[in-house]
Amino acid sequence: MGTYQCPYCAGYVSDEGGLAGQVVMCPHCGGEMQLPRCATAIPLDGGHGSTSPSSGSGFPAVDTGRTNLAASYRRKGYGKRQTDIYAIVCFASGLLGLFFLPELLTPVCYICAIVSHYRIKENRNLKGNGLRISGALMGIASMLFLFWKYQIGFFAP
Ligand SMILES: [Zn+2]
Repeated sequence: MGTYQCPYCAGYVSDEGGLAGQVVMCPHCGGEMQLPRCATAIPLDGGHGSTSPSSGSGFPAVDTGRTNLAASYRRKGYGKRQTDIYAIVCFASGLLGLFFLPELLTPVCYICAIVSHYRIKENRNLKGNGLRISGALMGIASMLFLFWKYQIGFFAP
């Protein structure tokens, strides 16, 4: 029980019980933080406006702007994740590149595949590796088509 401030984005989150000691994700920025194991180490706000940092925990207790932690925090490895927009663009450009403008869409597909790879790796709230890989495979098909069209690489006469 208690309200904590995210060390990354300073957003306020509230544990309505049961999450003490757990590693949780900030609902505002997705950053991971471990809640104090012992709730009594945190000055419980109780609506008195206490903002004094609790010793040792690193999470000041606050009583404003609280978000229900149990409802909005996702425990590590669980919960609904968002599909990375770059993975979607990678898939879309890979698919469209098979039919239209492969010269333009294939590079877009590859760039988005790389960007998406790092975004998904760094942010556990993001998913989309399947989309990204399927997009990249279609991008490879388009690239082979381009090699054939322009007679380069192993299609050179
Ligand atoms: Zn945060």
